[in-house]
Amino acid sequence: MIRHLLSGADLDAAAATQILDTAAEMATVAGREVKKLPALRGRTVVNLFYEDSTRTRISFEAAAKRLSADVINFSAKGSSVAKGESLKDTALTLQAMGADAVVVRHPASGAPHRLADWVAGSVVNAGDGTHEHPTQALLDAYTMRSRLGRLAGLRVAVVGDVLHSRVARSNVLLLSTLGAKVTLVGPPTLIPVDIAAALAPGTDVSYDLDVVLPDVDVVMMLRVQRERMNDSYFPSAREYARRYGLDGPRMRRLPEHAIVMHPGPMNRGMEITPEVADSPRSTIVEQVANGVSVRMAVLYLLLGGNKL
Ligand code: ASP
Repeated sequence: MIRHLLSGADLDAAAATQILDTAAEMATVAGREVKKLPALRGRTVVNLFYEDSTRTRISFEAAAKRLSADVINFSAKGSSVAKGESLKDTALTLQAMGADAVVVRHPASGAPHRLADWVAGSVVNAGDGTHEHPTQALLDAYTMRSRLGRLAGLRVAVVGDVLHSRVARSNVLLLSTLGAKVTLVGPPTLIPVDIAAALAPGTDVSYDLDVVLPDVDVVMMLRVQRERMNDSYFPSAREYARRYGLDGPRMRRLPEHAIVMHPGPMNRGMEITPEVADSPRSTIVEQVANGVSVRMAVLYLLLGGNKL
């Protein structure tokens, strides 16, 4: 196994499949009365969050605790980061405290890669700027495989604010490694030129959601990331929803078996309507549950836990 998980490209098909298979075993723990394994007893996992998070932070915490690791939660707000302490000095502090794994979320793309040079333990990228979010891609792949039975040959549309989406980048990298075919869909202003070819050959781009929908097995809606936009990329929220939002009539253009995904948090009424988000085709809540199993698998494999 690799030492760090920084990018969807860090995993070849065998390593990614090993994580998904291990996650399936971990999922059985969630159904037990005592949801705990002794695999990482005595190991320390630090959650280092410089950016807001609901699902990812709680999910990593639950995953580490279910493996019996000691968990330290660090959020930049209320710490010495507010006094101007650098990432490097924070890293050296964690190192001195003997962190076996550091799970890091940071607004700067590349921050987890820098951190990996400074700490002896494993670094897991929990989202860096607009760059990558590999464990989200793994839980998405896990969800697709468990709903549709396979990944090879699946046709996946990733729709919306691709420009600002670390979820999109990590998904394209991982899904193409696992043999799925991705089409990026959105307004031209939100799809960087050449991104498809740069990430994974074979990835398509379309600006017309209605044309793409009848031919996909999965549609993954992305959040419009207004907090990262310092320009106007579309005329209005209403216009965006009209062209690229997934509503009931559009959902009915999908093949019968197709699923609808969203990494959360959702802008209900913008990229997705409540009718779609709450429909039986939506895997949004399942994605959250699967996130814990996948992160258990990642921590377990990276830290070389005891035998299950
Ligand atoms: N929660 C995901 C992320 O942190 C997606 C999003 O924020 O839109 O990247």
